[in-house]
Amino acid sequence: MSININYQEKFQARHIATNEADTAKMLKTVKAESLDQLIEQTVPAKIRLKQPLNLPAAKSEFDYLNTLKQTASKNKVFKSYIGQGYYDVIVPGVIQRNILENPGWYTQYTPYQAEIAQGRLQALLNFQTMVIDLTGMEIANASLLDEGTAAAEAMFMQYSLRKNTAANIFFVSEDVFPQTIDILKTRSEPYGIQLQIGDYRTAELNDQMFGAIVQYPAGDGNVYNYTDFAAAAHQKNIKLTVVADLMSLVLLTPPGQWGADIVVGTSQRFGIPMGFGGPHAAFFATKEEYKRSIPGRIIGVTIDSAGNYALRMALQTREQHIRRDKATSNICTAQALLAIMAGMYAVYHGPQGIKLIAERIHGLSVLLAESLKQLGYEQLNDTYFDTLKFDLGVLANPVHSEALNNEMNLHYKGSVVTISLDETTSPQDIETIVRFFAKVKGKTINDVAFEELKGSIETVIPADLQRTGEILTHAIFNSHHSEHEMLRYIKSLEAKDLSLCHSMIALGSCTMKLNATTEMVPVTWAEFSKMHPFAPTDQVGGYMQIFSELNDWLSEITGFAAMSLQPNAGAQGEYAGLMVIRAYHNDRGDSHRNIALIPSSAHGTNPASAAMAGMKIVVVKCDDNGNIDVADLKARAEQYKNELSCLMVTYPSTHGVFEESIIEICEIIHANGGQVYMDGANMNAQVGLTSPANIGADVCHLNLHKTFCIPHGGGGPGMGPIGVAAHLVPYLPGHAVVDIDKGKSIPAVSAAPWGSASILIISHAYIAMMGGEGLTNATKYAILNANYIKSRLEAHYPVLYIGSNGRCAHEMILDCRSFKNFGVEVTDIAKRLMDYGFHAPTVSFPVAGTVMVEPTESEPKHELDRFCDAMIAIRYEIDSVEKGISDKTDNPLKNAPHTAAVITANEWEHSYTRQKAAFPLPYVAQYKFWPSVGRVNDTYGDRTLICSCPPLTDYEFEESEVTTPEYGT
Ligand SMILES: *Cc1c(COP(=O)(O)O)cnc(C)c1O
Repeated sequence: MSININYQEKFQARHIATNEADTAKMLKTVKAESLDQLIEQTVPAKIRLKQPLNLPAAKSEFDYLNTLKQTASKNKVFKSYIGQGYYDVIVPGVIQRNILENPGWYTQYTPYQAEIAQGRLQALLNFQTMVIDLTGMEIANASLLDEGTAAAEAMFMQYSLRKNTAANIFFVSEDVFPQTIDILKTRSEPYGIQLQIGDYRTAELNDQMFGAIVQYPAGDGNVYNYTDFAAAAHQKNIKLTVVADLMSLVLLTPPGQWGADIVVGTSQRFGIPMGFGGPHAAFFATKEEYKRSIPGRIIGVTIDSAGNYALRMALQTREQHIRRDKATSNICTAQALLAIMAGMYAVYHGPQGIKLIAERIHGLSVLLAESLKQLGYEQLNDTYFDTLKFDLGVLANPVHSEALNNEMNLHYKGSVVTISLDETTSPQDIETIVRFFAKVKGKTINDVAFEELKGSIETVIPADLQRTGEILTHAIFNSHHSEHEMLRYIKSLEAKDLSLCHSMIALGSCTMKLNATTEMVPVTWAEFSKMHPFAPTDQVGGYMQIFSELNDWLSEITGFAAMSLQPNAGAQGEYAGLMVIRAYHNDRGDSHRNIALIPSSAHGTNPASAAMAGMKIVVVKCDDNGNIDVADLKARAEQYKNELSCLMVTYPSTHGVFEESIIEICEIIHANGGQVYMDGANMNAQVGLTSPANIGADVCHLNLHKTFCIPHGGGGPGMGPIGVAAHLVPYLPGHAVVDIDKGKSIPAVSAAPWGSASILIISHAYIAMMGGEGLTNATKYAILNANYIKSRLEAHYPVLYIGSNGRCAHEMILDCRSFKNFGVEVTDIAKRLMDYGFHAPTVSFPVAGTVMVEPTESEPKHELDRFCDAMIAIRYEIDSVEKGISDKTDNPLKNAPHTAAVITANEWEHSYTRQKAAFPLPYVAQYKFWPSVGRVNDTYGDRTLICSCPPLTDYEFEESEVTTPEYGT
């Protein structure tokens, strides 16, 4: 027997779930002779790539991790005292392993189907409760992308709420972090908002101002008392946003108590690794009266069909998918997973624990300040929480080298140094710092009464800014402090949520594919997670190599000249791309070009982003086949040829079809002076077969959390880098702190130069392990799987919009509108799927009353069949209603989902059996996923909005509640 010693496991075979035998069966079902024939029938020949992707050979999982370890070693993990909005943390092990590293949490989808998402909804409600408590505000959302964009959202909310519509000045305290000011610049420009940056103490407030922003503690560490400033602002009808450090608020009087209208910031310090910039969850808190203007998602309390406590996303009518260009923001994917972790950090530590952590950070800062003063250093800020500021004069350089010798990074600006301490700082670290500060002065630590100082530390926070009263009093923050309790709490929530651990989540347009373990493993390596985004360039070689490779690979995949890895989500990518187009037109003297053509079928973020970029939206019609009406497009492009900025187009279309006319469409736009922005959410149907550049687009964003395997995290994180053609490269976003300028860069769109850098590794791993052939096969199988589902379901549900050869792309729309005639809504189908153990596909996008199914390449035939069987069984249930066999209102569809409590109750008064309700197909019995609540009531919750944890009597289970059972009755 000869043995092959060159065998190497192929990751491709793990990622693409369909084996050879099943492929043959599926091709038969779809009536194609081969996979290539199917692709030829699906993807128009004129847009196909002529060459295979030119990417490095695929690595095995084992090889990838070994190579990456070497790359990682080029990152130097120094102790970080840089601060500036990023601080080292101790991630509680129980949270790291059971949430951050747990697919039961990170593979969840955004909680649109509330009945199978109660766990993360509760965790996000905890986050909101924590934010409300610490900021002293009335209402908070469930996270935003980062501190800088949260500040920009606040500015914009103030602008929308202004009473004097002529007011267009926004006052910005010069002590706000530079990266935040940079984003304010980007966001203000299209609206003609003028930023007045200055010292808040001398600012002259006037009627032309609609808002102001200050930072607390200020960027240089000072803790100012803004009470008078807030009062003066309010007198002039100026609303005040406060950027606050959540950890400092544990000890400081909350902004809500001294006049803030909006409080924003990052929750990174609550147990989220720095990750070279992210992902982290920003928070946004404000007053109840502004609830309809808050950007992002709010989780609210409601009841279910049985009248029990239930949660769901509230006030959806504010959001972009409904309000489009009139939306309050374009935030779609936010930072759910990180918000969940931050909330859990507060649950785990509780008020006492958090207080001890904050006090220790503050106390060590005092120790350091006093020691350095005894050495004769002159401190520039006398009130502070954790950040000390010194002017070192000629000693700045020697201190810098000593710090490096001790593998420590401080923050330098000329001769001024700031030192920010964090949760990981120990008394030994302080001693080390004191020693080298002594050394450069020719002194020793013996010149400091160090031991004595240690024993007599007093706060320097002025009495009127010291927080009084309790924090985090809610039961949820006072219940789970032992690891067993915490573990069980996390697991109990996880068990309520359906994720990819249970079954496929066939979300059209959202590509819920495999998030492979090997792709996730490096994210929590210290070499990646403990890096500060402003660390010196010679310490970040590993990250630079990864970014450079990822830039090259994504450029090859999209056909573009270069990428910006900065945008933190798809919608941020849209915004960045449109701002780049805007800068290009402006630079050519075409600043009047401000019209964006957007097809009626576009995702809601498209018009919302265009509006944010200062563009006027002109809607282009779609024809009866769901394609862009080329005649209408041509007419509009010509009508507006002098003002045309761009077209925003999704490809394959949001209807799941490769439009044949796309090349002509792009030519029409170019002929009329416009640029083509391609929404890349559907890249999973393009990779290796065609590309945005090949089709004729100038810019596109990639949702790395869709096509490139970053998990959805229950509503974020994500990444939305943009690729651009050569003529747009000079305008790609820059950054105020780290020099990534491309010549004519627009200011930053995210707080960190490379956005949520640490999760870029996931996409890097995916591409490296798939290689060009693997990625192309993934696309082919995504198309095969979709067409297989189409073949199995089309006799039961009409499939809307198919290509000229009768093929769909990687997704398809199933028409459910006719069922309305006998009372069955598409929502009933979505909820009934839960009883079969499935998450619903995308509901009512892009066509109301339909579902859009996208299986992805990572689902095996077996799973596709289970899903199809469920859909077909549901179709028979609909039939029964239509034929009058089932009652019109009392049927399994209308009552779905069925909870265990309902099924096991002593009473059962329905016209169908319990078995039919809960175990409608034999396979369901093998593994039953129980929805934890009945159908949630949306309107009830919106009528009486509650966005923080109500008193939970569940947590007060007293012994006395257990009564002795009476046996034998
Ligand atoms: C998901 C999606 C977006 C928005 O992306 P986010 O990452 O959620 O901001 C935009 N367009 C389309 C077509 C999408 O599917």
